[in-house]
Amino acid sequence: MRFVLASRNAHKLAEYRAILASHEVEPMPTGVELPPEGVTSFEANAREKAEALARALAGSRRSAAEPAGAAAERLVVIADDSGIEVAALGGAPGVTSARYAGREGDDAANNERLLAELAGLAALSDRPGEPGQGDESADSSAEPDRAARFVCVIAFVVDGAAGSQAVRGEWPGVIAAAPRGAAGFGYDPLFVPAGLQVTVAEMTDADKNLQSHRARAARALLARLADDPPP
Ligand code: IMP
Repeated sequence: MRFVLASRNAHKLAEYRAILASHEVEPMPTGVELPPEGVTSFEANAREKAEALARALAGSRRSAAEPAGAAAERLVVIADDSGIEVAALGGAPGVTSARYAGREGDDAANNERLLAELAGLAALSDRPGEPGQGDESADSSAEPDRAARFVCVIAFVVDGAAGSQAVRGEWPGVIAAAPRGAAGFGYDPLFVPAGLQVTVAEMTDADKNLQSHRARAARALLARLADDPPP
């Protein structure tokens, strides 16, 4: 099986290569334009990207007049959309995770904004005189719920299929008080997976790739493909 990934994110490509280790995973060819990510849902964004890449690849295969037999190889186009959802923030940053602080892909600024939003909630719940908040009888911690989860939706198009399918992986945890660790990318320095004491940025790549939302979605993808073998 050959996977083509609809992304130019080198971290994602490396993670998928590690997670789908027994398969070939290629980056998408240069020159392919992907649609911009919307704000509706991870699934809608992933499906649009997968379908756009599948159309582009079908067009280039036709124009290259591939020899008979080439189509026998099972080619699976995959695209993901992922992000972090924080319960106390109503699921934000969610689909806007990559640009939460305004500039696409500014990880440090995104992490800073996430901590500032949680600190803002703590300050609100600490305000005296608000019913049920900040009064003597209330929980004196005034610490907002820091529960969060990483989410990954992988959309995929199997060679010849009319449309995309989608699978989802979630990785529950909490938001740390401050960034820790240097590995990974994005919100890794702030995310402490459930049952662990370390942030993802303090884990090895191998450990992350066993447990992550992307790994969980990829395992669901392989299971779905195994249920639907080629004719
Ligand atoms: P996208 O799926 O490329 O749109 O990524 C959205 C954003 O979600 C990234 O830029 C990161 O900020 C965040 N994100 C997604 N997956 C991870 C992860 O594994 N670790 C840390 N941040 C992530």
